[in-house]
Amino acid sequence: MDKKQTKQRIEKLRKEIDKIRYYYHVLDKQIVPDSVKDSLQHELYKLEKEYPGFVTPDSPTQRIGGKPLDKFNKVKHETPMLSMEDVFNNAELADWEARISRILGKKPDGYFCEQKMDGLAISLLYKNGLLVQATTRGDGVTGEDVTQNVKTIESIPLNLALQDTGYTLQDLEVRGEVFLPKNSFEKINQQQIANSQQLFANPRNAAAGSIRQLDSKITASRHLDFLPYGMKNVTRYKLYVTNQEQIYKFLNKLGFKINKHNKFCKNLEEVNKFHQYWNRARKKLPYLTDGVVVKVNDLATQERLGFIGKAYRWEIAYKFAAEQVTTVVKDIIVQVGRTGALTPVAVLEPVNVSGSTVSRATLHNEDEVHRKDVRIGDTVILQKAGDVIPEVVKVLKNLRPKNTHQFNMPKKCPICGGRVIRPEGGAIHRCADPKCVVRVKRSLYHFASKSAFDIEGLGPKIVDQLF
Ligand SMILES: [Zn+2]
Repeated sequence: MDKKQTKQRIEKLRKEIDKIRYYYHVLDKQIVPDSVKDSLQHELYKLEKEYPGFVTPDSPTQRIGGKPLDKFNKVKHETPMLSMEDVFNNAELADWEARISRILGKKPDGYFCEQKMDGLAISLLYKNGLLVQATTRGDGVTGEDVTQNVKTIESIPLNLALQDTGYTLQDLEVRGEVFLPKNSFEKINQQQIANSQQLFANPRNAAAGSIRQLDSKITASRHLDFLPYGMKNVTRYKLYVTNQEQIYKFLNKLGFKINKHNKFCKNLEEVNKFHQYWNRARKKLPYLTDGVVVKVNDLATQERLGFIGKAYRWEIAYKFAAEQVTTVVKDIIVQVGRTGALTPVAVLEPVNVSGSTVSRATLHNEDEVHRKDVRIGDTVILQKAGDVIPEVVKVLKNLRPKNTHQFNMPKKCPICGGRVIRPEGGAIHRCADPKCVVRVKRSLYHFASKSAFDIEGLGPKIVDQLF
């Protein structure tokens, strides 16, 4: 082959490889065995090595490779990447609708409902159709340049299919969520075990850890996925999209995978049905979703509503009530009850479980703490089913920090300093000092008094009645 023929061959190979990729990663259809794509890619790689001048940034070979970085460069977002407000039940969702309806003078004309991906937000910048920069959300104002790593995500087009849209877009910013499918997450943790490395607590942590690898080869091995959730500069190009639903159709035309489960709901009743349906059906999905993002569908209305603080008014995350979540044990304290019984209590990093924030969980008694081996610093699975009190189900021992100690009940009462005894045959430790109960009461007087918490109506008389 002469130089001209080689160039043509390279271009044909790229087109073919990209078509296979598009079918597989965007449309979820395998049109040829993996080995066919591999051998085409191998031929392309060899030709590009021979003629480095023909390498383009959107060549499939550019998805993997490049030298490992020393650090990530900081990038300021053109417009801040805001966060989302959460609601946890129908009533809170209705409050949100009432708030925005007051601003609009009427209810919005329908909502677009999306499965909320449990991943991390990324901004993709395309110039003249070419992916030039990918940035993490960071603190919302400034993120990190992770372009090299994002290129390894095969469902992200390196080159937009602009020819099908009739637009020439100089600048297009696409925002979306990078996430890790459940099966990739399991494989990564198996790999971590094989390499005697710490396990990832959940797919989101694993996705975040994978996107922040200085060596993009590691990122490539993690098989991340991407779904867009929005587009900037819509008005600048006078695109013929007037609502959220059309944004997705447009992004799909440009070559992005979109979530086919997302749908338009004309009122909150339909939104609630969508939420209920996926709350049950989400277990069968190949990825994690932790709620429904409800967006005012009409883009002009979105613009009118704007944002308040750090969140847009026109969208809200309607979370699924998780019955089991993970959190960290910050401390284990011992409470003395009114009968002198000592109870160990886990002080937790506050976490939302089953729709309420939990920062403490009883550990019942010393035997229970030993059986579960709960230690300060541990990451634990916390469960709260319905109205049942929150419970530490188990410790994720692979996430345990170094130098932790087994918890033992104190020898002295934390209230009076008296001797602690454990009556034979019982699991409960007690303060041996009979006067201790008086002191517990006294500490409660103080707790309720004006000099401390100033709890109205909780005077000494009421405290006495509590005993
Ligand atoms: Zn005591």
